[in-house]
Amino acid sequence: MLTGLHTQIGINLADPIFRGRYHGKQRHPDDLVGVIQRSRDVGCTKLIVTGSSFKSSRDALQLAELFPSTVFTTAGIHPCSSAIFEARHTRHHEEDIDGEADDTAGGEAAEHTPACGPDPTKPHAEDGHVDLAKSAKIMEDLRTLIETAAPENALVALGEMGLDYDRLHYCSASTQRHAFAAQLALVSSLADAGKPFPLFLHSRACHADFVQALKDQFGPTLETLPRGAVVHSFTGTIAEAEELMDLGLYLGVNGCSLKTVENCEVVRAIRLDRLMIETDGPWCEVRPTHEGWKYLVTVAEEARARALAQEEAQKAAEKAEWEAKKAAERAERAEREAAEKAAKEAAGEGEPSTDGAVASTPRPPRPPRQKKQQNNSNNNNNGKKKESVVPDRFKVVKKEKWEEGAMVKGRNEPCTIERIATIVAGIKGVTVEDVCEAAWANTERVFGKL
Ligand SMILES: [Zn+2]
Repeated sequence: MLTGLHTQIGINLADPIFRGRYHGKQRHPDDLVGVIQRSRDVGCTKLIVTGSSFKSSRDALQLAELFPSTVFTTAGIHPCSSAIFEARHTRHHEEDIDGEADDTAGGEAAEHTPACGPDPTKPHAEDGHVDLAKSAKIMEDLRTLIETAAPENALVALGEMGLDYDRLHYCSASTQRHAFAAQLALVSSLADAGKPFPLFLHSRACHADFVQALKDQFGPTLETLPRGAVVHSFTGTIAEAEELMDLGLYLGVNGCSLKTVENCEVVRAIRLDRLMIETDGPWCEVRPTHEGWKYLVTVAEEARARALAQEEAQKAAEKAEWEAKKAAERAERAEREAAEKAAKEAAGEGEPSTDGAVASTPRPPRPPRQKKQQNNSNNNNNGKKKESVVPDRFKVVKKEKWEEGAMVKGRNEPCTIERIATIVAGIKGVTVEDVCEAAWANTERVFGKL
């Protein structure tokens, strides 16, 4: 249970995978309620669900209706969903789904939010030709979506928007830049109309262009940015992190930010007063091969050592207690025997018999047997997988073996925010509570009281 953390940004809960649908096929029962409950169980009760296309932004709002005061949302068009601005894109943008590069991609198969990593096997999308009339209509529709968003107060930020040059197979860089600039202009226009929103931003392998787009819209120090912004799933360099923090932006850290030694050094450099934490589920889980995992191993080993020391101390205390009891019984018996002997001698009965009193004294109890150490066997990694060193809080099963109450292997869930907080604390050398409290305070500072 995390103390001090109540909110996480960046969870793609509108992804059908949380309803048991994988690539268009229902693989197991809808377990969204269980997913949210597990998040509550670790103390994270407020979830800012990412909207990254018209469809997912609307789906997120529906979740806010289903889970009032737990689910809050963002609304925007992800760079990987920005092909809708192009002339060659024929499906209506309202119907479009995330991460689809072109109209020929199978709708059902591509309905998921785009995975967080680059895919070098896929060719880049053609350089896009933005259709300006279409773009104006998309912006008008997005404005309407934002202005009519219900339930009230559920929509807390605009985005996900930004640039992603790691995944140019979904949409060309030039179209991405157009989509980002158009949405930033909408942000200013809404602010001028008395509806200032904070921003949920995405920046991948595009730092210079990303910062330039923000400065072009909001001024060299982002002085007209209405309510601040978070750059989520941060994977840039220390210098880039510092530039963004100096511009007053916040940085979101998830499993993708914890993969390498360099990533972890960047996280160390993120100031606590600029930090937010997220899972970005169903993507970006922390894996045993990631650098960040080592911090979970350290924490697990420390916990195990503490449990062992506690057990040893308890064993020693029980032994001492047993020995004291035994000594007291011996003393009592000796005293009783002496008294009996004296009484018999006084009565002139001659030599006392040796049976009787002694035989009737019950044997002292044996010290309690110690249970065999159970978890400890995982420590000796003879044939044991490295990952078993880190305990799972909830049972994890393959989707084919889905069961109520269990997490699905490979589907990252909001409850794993616990691991992010633990790793960030380890990297920064502060307590998990420090991380949680800072992230929570920063989240509320930008997105408002949830
Ligand atoms: Zn993102």
